[in-house]
Amino acid sequence: MISFVKFIGISFREVFAPKNCVICEEYFGDRESYSKYICNKCFDSMPYSPSKEIIYNQLLMAINLEDLFISNATSLFSADVMKKNWIELIHLLKYNGFTNIGTEFGILLGKRLIKEDLTGYDFVIPVPIHHTKKRERGYNQSDFIALSVSKTINCTYSNKLIKRMKYTSSQTLLDSNERRKNISKVFGPYNKNAHKLVDGKDILIIDDVLTTGSTLNECASTLVKMGANSVDVATLAHA
Ligand SMILES: [Zn+2]
Repeated sequence: MISFVKFIGISFREVFAPKNCVICEEYFGDRESYSKYICNKCFDSMPYSPSKEIIYNQLLMAINLEDLFISNATSLFSADVMKKNWIELIHLLKYNGFTNIGTEFGILLGKRLIKEDLTGYDFVIPVPIHHTKKRERGYNQSDFIALSVSKTINCTYSNKLIKRMKYTSSQTLLDSNERRKNISKVFGPYNKNAHKLVDGKDILIIDDVLTTGSTLNECASTLVKMGANSVDVATLAHA
C-alpha cells in the first residue's frame, strides 16, 4: 500500500510539475520539444561525455589496473561545476520521483552505447540499492534507466543477479579512500541461482552518475568473482 501511494505521489508530481526547462528554467510548456524535461535549445547543446577511452583512462587514475574489474565505461553527458544544472536532472530523477527522466534519457544512453559499439550483452542490470533505501525512496532510480537501455540495445534486463547487502551512508562527502572502505563487500549474489546465471556472461551495469567509479567497480568485482566473462558500465552523467 505504501508503495502504491508513493507511486501515485510520484505520478502526480510529474504530471502537475510546471513545464519549465530543468536546465535553463525557461517555460516551454506549449512548445514542441524533443524532451519532456529540457527545451530544444538545451537539448541541442547537451554537454556530451568524452569517448569511452577517455572515461576509462579517468577510471584508471582513481583505481589501480589490478583492482579494476570494469572492461569499458561510457556516459551520456558530462556534469561538472560549469554544467551543474545538468546534475539537477539527476536530482529530480533520484530524489524527486521524476522517474520518466530515467526512461527518456535511458533511450539516449542506449543510442550512445550503440554508437560506441557497446552492445550484445547477456544482461543489463541496475546498480542495486539496499531494500531499506528502496522502501524509503519508493524506487531505485537506476531501474528506470537500465530497463530503457535494455530495450534500446535489445538485451535482457535483470535486477536479480546481485543485491546490496549493506546500507551505506551517502558517498558524496567522503574522499576516495573513505569511499573505497565504505563500499567494500557491499554487494553479493542475489540468491543461490545467481552464480549459474552470471557464469560466463557479458554484463552491462547501469547507474545514474559515474564519479570515482568505486561503487560500480565493487559491483563489477562481485560479478567477476561470480564468474562473469566481462562487465561494462554506462551512466547518464559523468562527473
Ligand atoms: Zn532550456
